[in-house]
Amino acid sequence: METSVSVASIARKIAVLGSGISGALCASTIAKTGISVTVFDSARGPGGRMSQRRETTGDGKELLFDHGAPFFSVSNCSEAFRLVCEWESRGLIAEWKEKFGSFDCITKTFTETEQEGSNKRYVGVPGMNSICRALCHQPGVESKFGVGVGRVDWLEEENTWRLTSSDGQNLGHFAGVVASDKNIVSSRFTSVTGRPPPLDLNLAPDLRNKVQDISVSPCFAVMLAFPQPLSWIPFKGFTVRNSKVLNWVHCDSSKPGRPTTSERWVLHSTAEYAETVIAKTGLKKPSDAVFTKVAEELLEELQNMGLNVPQPLFKKAHRWSFKTVKMLIQR
Ligand SMILES: Cc1cc2nc3c(=O)[nH]c(=O)nc-3n(C[C@H](O)[C@H](O)[C@H](O)COP(=O)(O)OP(=O)(O)OC[C@H]3O[C@@H](n4cnc5c(N)ncnc54)[C@H](O)[C@@H]3O)c2cc1C
Repeated sequence: METSVSVASIARKIAVLGSGISGALCASTIAKTGISVTVFDSARGPGGRMSQRRETTGDGKELLFDHGAPFFSVSNCSEAFRLVCEWESRGLIAEWKEKFGSFDCITKTFTETEQEGSNKRYVGVPGMNSICRALCHQPGVESKFGVGVGRVDWLEEENTWRLTSSDGQNLGHFAGVVASDKNIVSSRFTSVTGRPPPLDLNLAPDLRNKVQDISVSPCFAVMLAFPQPLSWIPFKGFTVRNSKVLNWVHCDSSKPGRPTTSERWVLHSTAEYAETVIAKTGLKKPSDAVFTKVAEELLEELQNMGLNVPQPLFKKAHRWSFKTVKMLIQR
């Protein structure tokens, strides 16, 4: 009797690996059908590449940065648009109504970016992770943060998946598993951890070939805080043209629903710059000295643009070893 109850309950349980937008949305969609979902994420909180970073200045002042995706857009006639309208009505997102442009490092001039069609730029409120946070806490979804999944095994006799954490703890048995991060099957996992990837894709050769073909771009993000607003810079977000170092710059504190007690900017490196650094340091987490050098080099590039950018009161670099799938992103 006890066995049949537990088998029945496993049949109604799905594990989702990753609480970024794809994992969180998947978990929420499954939970709405009445199936219970457990989300696992090795990070301390939800959001993945749409997360928000909390930092403190030397004198204890809190600083919040969207150091991953700065905003998103959606086309009006898509299924995603319906979701976006719902999130906006719930106050999870808002339109970032600022002027955006591009800066050319050769001519040292700005050009305003024309808004394509009626696409708006949306941001999570109060941080980019707001959508994932809400989806991961809706009824039917249980979320476990700070839990890296180290093994995903198919148990033929029991007809279930068994999950084991990176530190060897049994995470339970599930009828289905959704993996939202390429890391779970990629050799990159082995380069970083020295262990085999959690899911053995030799069990599904077609899928293995497709996943291995996905080529990704890395990026460094540098978070800066200034004592005064840089109000003379004409755009709150701009792409950088003809720079080998900088790709994107935005004023994070200009977004709706953010604290305005400090002036916060985020810089993104080019993929080329990040690849050069990674070629020297490898895929393991860089040392503090490397992060400091990266923060200085990106800041120096910004300061060389002739925009009168003063010394910040806070600067820190973060590495995204996987920013986007190559060639998919155009701002
Ligand atoms: C700097 C930057 C700028 C970007 N700019 C844009 C943009 O302008 N426009 C745009 O459309 N997109 C942009 N992107 C890309 C966009 O952020 C991503 O495509 C999107 O957020 C990916 O969501 P995801 O859920 O697929 O993956 P992720 O957000 O990466 O989520 C995967 C999650 O899985 C977790 N995970 C991985 N392995 C394990 C494990 N073994 N156990 C447990 N958890 C695990 C990770 O911790 C992570 O939280 C940008 C990304 C970055 C980093």
